[in-house]
Amino acid sequence: MPIVRVALPVPLPQVFDYLAPDASEADVGRCVKVPFGRGERNGLIVALAAEADVDPARLKAVHHIQRDVPPLPPDWLELAAFVARYYHAPIGEVVALALPPGLRRADGVSGDEDDPLLDIGPAGTEALQAGRRPSKALALLQALAQDTPPWRRNAVRAREGGEAVGDLLRRGWLVEAALDTPGRAASGVLPELTTEQDGTVKAILDAGEGFRSWLLHGVTGSGKTEVYLRLAARMLARGRQVLMLVPEIALTPQLEQRVAQRFAAARIVSLHSGLADGARSRGFVQALSGRADIVLGTRLAVFAPLPRLGLILVDEEHDASYKQQEGVRYSARDVAVWRARQRGVPVVLGSATPSLETWYHARSERYALQVLKQRAVAATMPAVRCIDVRRLKLDEGLSPGLQAAIAQRLERGEQSLVFLNRRGYAPVLSCPSCGWVSRCPHCSANLVVHLADRRLRCHHCGCEGGIPHACPSCGDQDIKPFGRGTQRIEARLAELYPQARVLRVDRDAARTRRQWEALLDTIAAGGADILVGTQMMAKGHDFPNLTLVGVVGADASLHAADFRAPERLFQQLMQVGGRAGRGALPGEVLIQTEYPEHPLYRHLARHDFDAFARMELQARRSAGFPPFSHQAMLRADAPALDDAVEFLRHARRLAAEHAPDGLRIYDPVPMRMTRLARRERAQLLLEADQRSLLQAFLTDWMALLYRQRTARELRWQLDVDPLEV
Ligand code: ADP
Ligand code: ZN
Ligand code: ZN
Repeated sequence: MPIVRVALPVPLPQVFDYLAPDASEADVGRCVKVPFGRGERNGLIVALAAEADVDPARLKAVHHIQRDVPPLPPDWLELAAFVARYYHAPIGEVVALALPPGLRRADGVSGDEDDPLLDIGPAGTEALQAGRRPSKALALLQALAQDTPPWRRNAVRAREGGEAVGDLLRRGWLVEAALDTPGRAASGVLPELTTEQDGTVKAILDAGEGFRSWLLHGVTGSGKTEVYLRLAARMLARGRQVLMLVPEIALTPQLEQRVAQRFAAARIVSLHSGLADGARSRGFVQALSGRADIVLGTRLAVFAPLPRLGLILVDEEHDASYKQQEGVRYSARDVAVWRARQRGVPVVLGSATPSLETWYHARSERYALQVLKQRAVAATMPAVRCIDVRRLKLDEGLSPGLQAAIAQRLERGEQSLVFLNRRGYAPVLSCPSCGWVSRCPHCSANLVVHLADRRLRCHHCGCEGGIPHACPSCGDQDIKPFGRGTQRIEARLAELYPQARVLRVDRDAARTRRQWEALLDTIAAGGADILVGTQMMAKGHDFPNLTLVGVVGADASLHAADFRAPERLFQQLMQVGGRAGRGALPGEVLIQTEYPEHPLYRHLARHDFDAFARMELQARRSAGFPPFSHQAMLRADAPALDDAVEFLRHARRLAAEHAPDGLRIYDPVPMRMTRLARRERAQLLLEADQRSLLQAFLTDWMALLYRQRTARELRWQLDVDPLEV
């Protein structure tokens, strides 16, 4: 009787055998329900076996094999196996992460979605000529008449006034059209490519259809998206699928709209964690069945099965959110490159501020490089200057120079942004008499003051409380917020410029996607004069009327303990600087600093990413940091720090016994944020110059670690290529 090997989402590095009387090779890659312990679990059949690993008499039978959807193909199983192997995670957990929950539960899932191709019917043509009175339906029809048919119904719906599409169908103004090539652009007029864009598109296409990693290093506003769209068009025309990754859910609707407008006849599927179960499963199945032409989404979209895959695009490849920070700690960017190699297709990593790893690969010719130096529309880059604040008296962190610049923008009716580098700064409550600060009782973080609802909040574990009227330690009534939060700056700006509309853009003001979109709309419509924001503002949005960016608190990152802090600071300032002057108006960036001569700021002022990258890589080379070495971090957490550290010491002893030459094992240390949500955390860093050496060692070491008995309530995980060390 056939035995199936099932990957189950349990923290054990193995697969489980079950009897499946009617199973055949065709069931490999299908979801199953199986008995497990006293309950039932959902898993994936990864192989068929002739003989069981355990006593056949103890084998249980599967409950149900999900045969409504096609099985996941072998290359997908290979992908999951690679991720499990490289990140040393249980295969079942990788599968659980990569598959939409609805599909995994083996619910009835179908990829069917009624998204017909539409064209203007005879009744529509008549309506256009009839001189009818204006209506929403007519406006949409007229807009469509300017374009080349056919269009997907979803694409019509995504247009302005697209809600009327149902109405148009009922009236027969729109009718179903014959099938068309998905790659054909919807609108006849495409922007003419700049010389640089054209060169890049040609270079990538001329390199052929096989595997190649490209770094597309283009300054903000250089038109990288247009390059992606042209490449995608070519792939669609060849009947291939395109996978497009973006770092943030917040960026998907914008991109989706742009892609839908460009490829109105293409089936576009978006995949991200914000989707309802049903929509995510449906999109996944459309990708799997080969019906989706373009899959766009956040990091989890890298797991979409794509039988006709022709091209992978990774926008803002440097963004830290491509790396999952819990569970299976994979990097979607790195997995994308592996996938491109596996499938023999090109992958394009785009950024204005590439990660130093990627930049280094491009310089050492492992990746091919394309550079866009010119902005596509606005001719100039913003002017970047430092304001030396060493001998200045600041008003709530704002220098006179920055205030004057803001006042000038207000007079001219232009927008300013005060950008706050949150790293190192937090508006905590402190007592000037005894030095008491508001600490979180559960974490080693400080509680942050939120003036709007007069609460203290922990940004790590979410715990909160009211603001005390006097110091809980000495009773002094003069306790006050210390540090510069967005809310304090917002309040001060409102006092300084009573006539101005001040708008705060941070995680608090934009908790939901809807709030975030409403904020963006307000800004774009000119509904704000001064914006106060954090790193959220640095990501991919155009504000044509924004001409000034003032940067506050940047210095904290210059001397941070994390070796990646300068890289992040440079990227963030360059990105946020790129928000200024993207329209017809020139932009200016003013950085308040006590280190105006610091090379990081000097390179930034010259927009010289390469000089910065060379400098930083030099420092990393001499310190032996990535990309000149490869790291893995074993982390442990427990209610008591001693338990966590003791486990790591034990792990270290095991490692030392088996360590090959060239493996560097450090001492276990408490994490910088030691306490998080009532648990104490410690970590152990391993490093090697060769990736293969580190990987081979990790495989053996993990097998040992899984066999250790640990203190109760102790948890541990391995982070390969950690971003935070
Ligand atoms: P990036 O992603 O490189 O920051 P975008 O792709 O967002 O830049 O392009 C910046 C702006 O320039 C957008 O408004 C885009 O529509 C416009 N643009 C891009 N390429 C061209 C072109 N060849 N001609 C005219 N406008 C362009
Ligand atoms: Zn906390
Ligand atoms: Zn006190």
